Amino acid sequence: MNERVSTGISRLDICLGGGLETGIITEIYGEAGSGKTNFCLFVAINSAKTGTVIYIDSEGVSSDRIAQITVDQSILSNIKFFRVRSYDEQLETVTKIANLSQAIPDIRMIIFDTITAHYRAERDKRAELRKRYGNTLTYQVEMLNNLAMNLNIPVIIVNQVYTEKDSSNVLPVGGSGLAHMAKAILKIEKTGSGRRDIVVMKHRSLPEQKRCSFSITEKGIE
Ligand code: ATP
Ligand code: MG
Repeated sequence: MNERVSTGISRLDICLGGGLETGIITEIYGEAGSGKTNFCLFVAINSAKTGTVIYIDSEGVSSDRIAQITVDQSILSNIKFFRVRSYDEQLETVTKIANLSQAIPDIRMIIFDTITAHYRAERDKRAELRKRYGNTLTYQVEMLNNLAMNLNIPVIIVNQVYTEKDSSNVLPVGGSGLAHMAKAILKIEKTGSGRRDIVVMKHRSLPEQKRCSFSITEKGIE
């Protein structure tokens, strides 16, 4: 059986076939406010109990929310936050992490929230850079995929969505390169006030459209 890392919620782990798979990229996408960051912070804080978590953050993570979720403040030093403020900084940061990874002890997980935020914002402003941006996004995903394999850890990549004009379907940004490279793709959907479903969109050993429910609460997710 492929190894799994716990989300920190046993009900979710069971629903997801044991937790988050090591050695691969899991992509998480969903609408604004769907709970992607809450999910990632909760999983990061849980994984930090056992080792180092690398958290690449493009949105400016809320220290208030981290404080609400964290029970044992001493484990927070195990989460290495890398704040990226532009697409170029993001490219540099992923490259740096790839180069440094052997020197950082005990990496248990890498999370990138959100890999397509700067990409989308800057690419759309600078149409002449579209091709370079496409290629370098794939390059970053490749580096993260290599880290997942070489370190045998889960890598979580958060992705934004756009709404398809004709069908009003909500689809992930970033094209097929990202979709192929992620061996698990999970969509988070709002199902009610604070209620969310993780919908399996692609998985190597779970059926499509399988749903795993959770709630966003004061203390994180449950
Ligand atoms: P974006 O795409 O904008 O980054 P996201 O998918 O990352 O959005 P989150 O920031 O994870 O979304 O989730 C936002 C939701 O979390 C909001 O609906 C908010 O009400 C809920 N939330 C935040 N803090 C609390 C709390 N203390 N108690 C209950 N719900 C909370
Ligand atoms: Mg977010």
